[in-house]
Amino acid sequence: MAILTLKNLSKNYDGKTAVKPVDLAFDAQKCIALIGPNGAGKTTILRTLSGLLKPSTGSITFHDMEPKEDIRKYIGYLPQYPSFHSWMTGKEFLVYVAQLAYIGKNEAIKRAESLLSQVGLDDAKNQRIGKYSGGMKQRLGIAQAIIHKPKLLMLDEPVSSLDPIGRREVLNLMDELKKDMTILFSTHILSDADEVSDELLLLHNGNIVEEGSLEFLRSKYQISKIEVSFSDDVDNYTKAIKALPTVQECTIEKGSIHIITDDINSARSEILSEASKENWPLSMFTISRTTLEEMFMKAVNS
Ligand code: ATP
Repeated sequence: MAILTLKNLSKNYDGKTAVKPVDLAFDAQKCIALIGPNGAGKTTILRTLSGLLKPSTGSITFHDMEPKEDIRKYIGYLPQYPSFHSWMTGKEFLVYVAQLAYIGKNEAIKRAESLLSQVGLDDAKNQRIGKYSGGMKQRLGIAQAIIHKPKLLMLDEPVSSLDPIGRREVLNLMDELKKDMTILFSTHILSDADEVSDELLLLHNGNIVEEGSLEFLRSKYQISKIEVSFSDDVDNYTKAIKALPTVQECTIEKGSIHIITDDINSARSEILSEASKENWPLSMFTISRTTLEEMFMKAVNS
């Protein structure tokens, strides 16, 4: 069931459209990736949803909110470049932000302790934030964003600036947190979206050009590719492969033949039976699935 509905939501800056009108609904306990290149409008959507920017048109409604209620109580937001008081300890910082959210001191301490443990900062809770690594700061940022138990957690490029270890820690944490809330995060690194999200929103020039689950988009934009190499010159085989009925496109890259087909099973049988009949010296035969990059390019160009 949808926890949140956006109707006709758009944002202009000084008359220039940054996000065109969009209708969307987000389900509970889903991790949704907002993907698009620089300037596509990702931050604008997140800042508008977080209440930091006023939408130019449209509305944002949580399922069980009262009319005219402040949506901020339902939303947690971690900006792309969060700022912390580096002289505070992680625990002091969380107690401080909890109190800013009108949570009483005892409850604030309780929540801070429990979240520090949940985000893996138990051992560092009394250290100054200035000494935290990038990944630790990002996990502390996530803890502050959920201190008031929001239904929707929004993260702007949460892992783009992290090293592989920090990136892994944050992606694992997101995977854990989506059991309790819906997560909407932006990224231009498509492999991160592939790894952690259930659904994708593809954004281009302020337009949602495609949306849906990874499986749905994969099947819609499926490109089936086969790559073959031979122990002698590929030019000896290109003509025969191009002539096979299920082969749509055939190019030579770095000494191997790249084949595009819309019927992977038949193409595989045709190539392998030709190779066996003609005794081709095959040295590699690989089938690859559509990458998110390819999907994005197809969606943008369709
Ligand atoms: P990035 O990945 O670079 O952060 P983005 O997808 O988050 O990009 P936005 O920052 O939302 O994109 O920007 C969308 C468009 O709105 C861009 O053309 C940008 O120049 C413009 N824009 C963003 N903020 C403002 C602003 N405060 N005033 C005017 N134009 C803005």
